[in-house]
Amino acid sequence: MLKRTVLVVEDNEINREMLTAILSSEYRVLEAENGQEALVLLEQYKEGISLIFLDIIMPVMDGYTFLSVMKANPAYSFIPVIVVTQSDEVSDEVAALSHGAADFVVKPYQPQIILHRAANIINLRETAAMVNQIKYDRLTKLYSKEFFCQRARKILLRNPDKEYDIVCSDIENFKLFNDVFGVQAGDRLLFGVAEALKQGVGSHGICGRFNGDQFVFLTGRDWVYKNEAFQKMRDEIAKLPRAGKVNVRWGVYSVSDRGVSVETMCDRAILAAGSIKGQYGKYLAQYDEELRRKLLRERSITDGMEAALEEGQFEVYFQPKYASGDESMAGAEALVRWRHPQCGLQSPGLFIPIFEKNGFITRLDQYIWQKVCELLQRWDRKGYPAVSVSVNVSRADIYNADLLDMLTAMVHAYGLEPSRLHLEITESAYTENPGQLIETVRGLRERGFVIEMDDFGSGYSSLNMLTNLPIDMLKLDMQFIRNETAKPENQGILRFIIEIARWLKLSVVAEGVETKEQFERLKKIGCDYVQGYYFAKPMPAGEFEALIGEGKRA
Ligand code: C2E
Ligand code: CA
Ligand code: CA
Repeated sequence: MLKRTVLVVEDNEINREMLTAILSSEYRVLEAENGQEALVLLEQYKEGISLIFLDIIMPVMDGYTFLSVMKANPAYSFIPVIVVTQSDEVSDEVAALSHGAADFVVKPYQPQIILHRAANIINLRETAAMVNQIKYDRLTKLYSKEFFCQRARKILLRNPDKEYDIVCSDIENFKLFNDVFGVQAGDRLLFGVAEALKQGVGSHGICGRFNGDQFVFLTGRDWVYKNEAFQKMRDEIAKLPRAGKVNVRWGVYSVSDRGVSVETMCDRAILAAGSIKGQYGKYLAQYDEELRRKLLRERSITDGMEAALEEGQFEVYFQPKYASGDESMAGAEALVRWRHPQCGLQSPGLFIPIFEKNGFITRLDQYIWQKVCELLQRWDRKGYPAVSVSVNVSRADIYNADLLDMLTAMVHAYGLEPSRLHLEITESAYTENPGQLIETVRGLRERGFVIEMDDFGSGYSSLNMLTNLPIDMLKLDMQFIRNETAKPENQGILRFIIEIARWLKLSVVAEGVETKEQFERLKKIGCDYVQGYYFAKPMPAGEFEALIGEGKRA
């Protein structure tokens, strides 16, 4: 085993050599003639030194001065010191111990005693260091996860009637911060957040660091902390270097069931924090029954999605679209449904947002597009009039570098012209990532696909942006239609938008048309197509097939 290093600080050469001779059998020994020299060695070796033997009366810098200087420096204040004295007077012993020495020995040296004392003290110190390492997080000096949970458990046990909250925080995009600014900057940020937390919570509770960028505290609910304390911590964090865009989210679990482990309570608080990820302006969420149910539902959806795709539980429904002029059927929108073996027919609002989060949406979309192509080919072969079908294209699909080739290959495989597929891309995608998106969409359009801008009017896209976009159709958002048609005819911007669309040579589809009045109004101001419950609800492929032959309103 590697020998530990001991530092002997003693001005008397004979004494120093004697001590060194004794210690050399077990240790590597460094020597210093006075406190000043000793400090230089300390600065050089720091925690590499396991123990110091220190004489008190020395020239240049005496033992007590040395002790006070070294104990004030956190880089080596923890290194134990044994003071060597001439006499065994109690006053010497008291003085040494009061200056922070761990022990003392009296001259002349007795080798056995010196070696035993050295071994004991080193051993004690190393055990304490190990305990501390387990107890505290190295970087932030907050409690470690294990120790936090242990303390929290004790507090909860000892105060069975008091109410407590466990609060966990999560730094959004911390990994990205690390990647962009480097690990050191990341460490500084974590340290700063820990400091803000320590100050914010103060004596109201205990704080710990969990995994990576997650922090936790336990506090009595009698501390009304929610508004002020969080605002203060947020302000402190915002002041940290490069933290301007750093978002810390907090999740609260109010301890109700003391039968679950503290770890589980923390998990719940973390889940609550995660539930508001990406939501603008929200930084605090409470774990409650509703969130629990939502998370369970999400989990069961995620658990079941792969099998559902393999077993064909996803079905395509079609909602026909009509030309306003003669009310003839002019195609349809493909909308997915999940025929769940236990829960029955599920509408996409329940699962699409989850698939968009976990990335499964790209596979589901491809499956739907393929099903649509398959059906179109089948209907063509039966000699029905060729309809076109709009499919929904998610943001994530557009990031797929193969999208262009994949879609082109797909329509060709089913012997279809690309124009038979209309691609609906939501308005908000255009405002988010114009560069890459526009390029991809332009490519798709050049290959002959018809591009529709979905949900137009729901977001903030500017009208003058429209002039530069590679699109063929505007699909007006349902809520927008609802709001606009509720206004008197001479007010609102619906008419204006349709005029601009016409000027830009874009067709206009109105979605969610539910009443005759809405339809009449849309028709009057020149909206080309309409889709909505007033005409037909989304229907299974079989029913839609029956419609195609007529080419008329259901
Ligand atoms: P969306 O693209 O805006 O689709 C229109 C939604 O409005 C559909 O809901 C449709 O059934 C509903 N709707 C149509 N007419 C009316 C009406 O007159 N009144 C009312 N109240 N609702 C009407 P659905 O089928 O529940 O789909 C919801 C959303 O899920 C869609 O919104 C779309 O964003 C997404 N979605 C559906 N299928 C797919 C898919 O295959 N892939 C992707 N990526 N998203 C899909
Ligand atoms: Ca759509
Ligand atoms: Ca829409």
